[in-house]
Amino acid sequence: MFTHACHCRLCQRYTASAFVVHSPVEMTNFKLDRGELVQTPGPSGSGGGHTINRCKNCGDQIYSHVFNNPKIAVLKTTTLDQPNQFPPQAHIYVQTKLHWVELNDTVPQFDEFYDREEMYSSESLARRKQVE
Ligand SMILES: [Zn+2]
Repeated sequence: MFTHACHCRLCQRYTASAFVVHSPVEMTNFKLDRGELVQTPGPSGSGGGHTINRCKNCGDQIYSHVFNNPKIAVLKTTTLDQPNQFPPQAHIYVQTKLHWVELNDTVPQFDEFYDREEMYSSESLARRKQVE
């Protein structure tokens, strides 16, 4: 439905990287081609926690459910086979972006989170409303 790069401290620590790229998608539009997932609890910025689905073999995060909504998979976009198909449409929590990360000014940046109504396409908003 949308792809954003999150530069919050939690994502930096949890991915051991500069930022994470997330793409929320309906679970009905997600299919695991191979492998097996295991579920682990994880922290979230909102404090509500989330469930992380990891590859059983390597432990990499594949997707998570946030706000206890099992209908939405928040894909870890860069784990996809073709991650370049889903470049970030926004950068969020740039207030804690690492100083050496240089962002392209053509992609909107937000100190914290964006207003979904403003950022999502009308099609994505309609899809999102179906699973909330
Ligand atoms: Zn984050």
